[in-house]
Amino acid sequence: MSLTTPGGDTVADYKMLIGGELCDATSGETFETFEPATGEKIADVPKAGKEDAVRAIEAARKAFDEGPWPKMSGKERADKLRKIVEVIGAHAAELSEIETRDGGGTIRKAQLADVPGAQQSFEWFAKMAEEQPTEVELTGSPLPPSENYLRYEPLGVCSGVIPWNFPLIMASWKIAPALAAGNTSVLKPASFTSLSALLMAQFINEECDLPPGVLNVISGPGGTVGEELASNPLVDKTAFTGSTEVGRRIMQLASATVKPVTLELGGKSANIVLDDADLDVAAAGVLWGTFMHGGQVCESGTRALVQRGIYDEFVSLLADRAGKIQLGNPLDFETDLGPLVSRSQVQTVERYVASGREEVGEPVTGGAKPEGLPAGLDRDCFFQPTIFTDVDNEAKIAQEEIFGPVLCVIPFETDEEAVALANDSIYGLGGGVQSSNLDRAKKVAAAMRTGTVWINDYHLISPERPFGGYKQSGIGRELGTFGYNIYRQVKHVHVNTGEGRDTHFHYQLLSANI
Ligand code: NAD
Repeated sequence: MSLTTPGGDTVADYKMLIGGELCDATSGETFETFEPATGEKIADVPKAGKEDAVRAIEAARKAFDEGPWPKMSGKERADKLRKIVEVIGAHAAELSEIETRDGGGTIRKAQLADVPGAQQSFEWFAKMAEEQPTEVELTGSPLPPSENYLRYEPLGVCSGVIPWNFPLIMASWKIAPALAAGNTSVLKPASFTSLSALLMAQFINEECDLPPGVLNVISGPGGTVGEELASNPLVDKTAFTGSTEVGRRIMQLASATVKPVTLELGGKSANIVLDDADLDVAAAGVLWGTFMHGGQVCESGTRALVQRGIYDEFVSLLADRAGKIQLGNPLDFETDLGPLVSRSQVQTVERYVASGREEVGEPVTGGAKPEGLPAGLDRDCFFQPTIFTDVDNEAKIAQEEIFGPVLCVIPFETDEEAVALANDSIYGLGGGVQSSNLDRAKKVAAAMRTGTVWINDYHLISPERPFGGYKQSGIGRELGTFGYNIYRQVKHVHVNTGEGRDTHFHYQLLSANI
């Protein structure tokens, strides 16, 4: 494996991990991946086909059915997961560099959020493996005298399909709980951003001594590889993070074998600014809640609902501060906003901004690719933080997920109206309430139909707390204790202790003579 140096032009060689072996696609095919900041090619990536997906699934099946992993104690698996935490830490520099160069964003995000976020996720699920019981006695049963208990068992082979916005963190959200609970895993990263997951798998394979087939990572197109991971009968569970459109397809594919699915999908979250909010804190919260990672974040608060009494003052604060966000070289730690993931994503944003201009009017700030970027950067991959005001919640830009740096500011009169506007969306993933009256803010939070609400804050996600969506933002929750137990089956065992059989109605249902 060779890694490019910052700004270097070495074409790196990345491999997939199947059954404990680093390998190319069976066909030998590869696809190119580019550095969005500069537009330059950084690597050739193995382009798996259906046969490689099947190979990876079969390796995971064999590791589950015949290997030691599901039979190991929680403590033994936790030790392996903690070794992964250590290995990610030892390679933090390479991983954060490649995360930034492959996926856009900034090195600051990679160093402060992506790499530590992946570590925290493995650490949390190691704790789950150690602490969550595998057997629980049941008492107070109305059944005849008997001993009853629950066994929590791994599901089997778990597949994961992830998007391009937080590749390392998303990979860890799929791999860590699956492995902690005793399952085996096959992961497919998004084609725009396969490198960090492949590299992490390579480091884990070389340094963590996992039994072969426990972890498999393959790169390739969603339409073939992703579909196989969601439909193959040897897979026991599929966890998907990505767009609502593809989520629907995954659910359809998984239904043929009644596979449980976890879906973490799109969002159009509302950040409600009440008239008693500290405007400084709220402005920071709204800007950070929308523009972090260029708005390419599923829970971004892309609709700021602002109460009439503070509306004008708040809008001018937002516009003023948004203009101070520094766009630039993503490998410079001082840069606030790097490139979006690709030129095509910038073009999508441009189409939405054009639609906003038509439906709503001129944005108060932004609305174009930035001028004056440092030499060598590809301007076609960058977009300014953009704010539309007086937006009707029915407008296309207020209803559809843009996945770019575009904020819609929407006025409201009463708390009830704010809640109604917030809930008037097919999505329900995140949301915020900015207010100095916590009772009032909590009442508003309770009425919002969404998976997470941050009061006087935004974006704070941690492995200890469940994350997921209402409505078309998804099914199930990842993280927290809940996000561990969805990777386990529950088996009830009833042990007849022999007393009182004759008198119980269950035995009289067929015949007293058998
Ligand atoms: P996407 O849905 O286009 O792709 C996600 C993954 O699915 C990729 O790996 C892709 O290759 C694969 N895929 C595509 N078609 C497939 C198919 N037919 N069958 C199986 N797999 C297929 O999403 P994206 O553009 O990579 O990411 C952006 C989307 O992800 C946004 O909608 C965003 O809101 C969502 N997202 C959600 C969360 C969350 O936790 N809810 C987190 C991050 C991103």
